[in-house]
Amino acid sequence: MRWEEMTSPEIGALDREKTVVILPIGSVEQHGNHMPVGTDTILSHAVSLAAAEQAGDAVVLPPPWYGFSAHHMRFPGSVTLRAETLLALTGDIVDSVIAHGFKRVLVVNGHGGNAGAIDVLASTLGHRHYGAARIATLTYFALARDAIAALRRSEPGGMGHACEFETSLVQHLRPELVKIERAEATYPDPESAYLTTDLIGGQVVRVYHDFADLSPTGTLGDPALASPEAGEKFFATSVKALGEFIADFRSWQIPEVSK
Ligand SMILES: [Zn+2]
Repeated sequence: MRWEEMTSPEIGALDREKTVVILPIGSVEQHGNHMPVGTDTILSHAVSLAAAEQAGDAVVLPPPWYGFSAHHMRFPGSVTLRAETLLALTGDIVDSVIAHGFKRVLVVNGHGGNAGAIDVLASTLGHRHYGAARIATLTYFALARDAIAALRRSEPGGMGHACEFETSLVQHLRPELVKIERAEATYPDPESAYLTTDLIGGQVVRVYHDFADLSPTGTLGDPALASPEAGEKFFATSVKALGEFIADFRSWQIPEVSK
């Protein structure tokens, strides 16, 4: 289940056709005054492990902690990779897995700032390994967006960053890491109807948002609406959506390439 805890012969004995190898990615960046900087990677790893268990025949790689977080660098503790570094790092890991003969690799992202990178990775890695493997990339909370929307209490803007959603999840999974008494809500006022910072707001137009301009605390949304009980539901719904995707992904054809 956890790649890093298996022996080389155990990994060598895995069924190459049906095993889905999952690479969680996230970020190390400020999550308001009340949440740890590792939140995104902690969450994508936890959702990946539980979904792999639900789906079966799936192994979870150890996540690289860092992602693209340039827009958080004005806050202490944020660490960013350059976009090129993130693409190279993630690509090298996926290439290594495919070199061992695995045919289905899934990158599970937990950080909005990595969205552009995972689009590029799906295209470039998919092209590089066409005919040998299928590579899919997704952001777990986007995959479960409808179910999350049905559970949320906040208005649009209440789920953005260190918000109702993320705070609830960490309260459920790692309650000792949340300093809820330091949480402050921020509802940013978008300058245009085309711009939303909501986590599941479905923005179409892409633009650079520097978080220090959006929010004095770095929080976007309303952590006061968070609770461990909500976190349990958000987690279950995210795991279910990802587990169902893994099962479906396993059935996808590897195209025959005619030379
Ligand atoms: Zn986050």
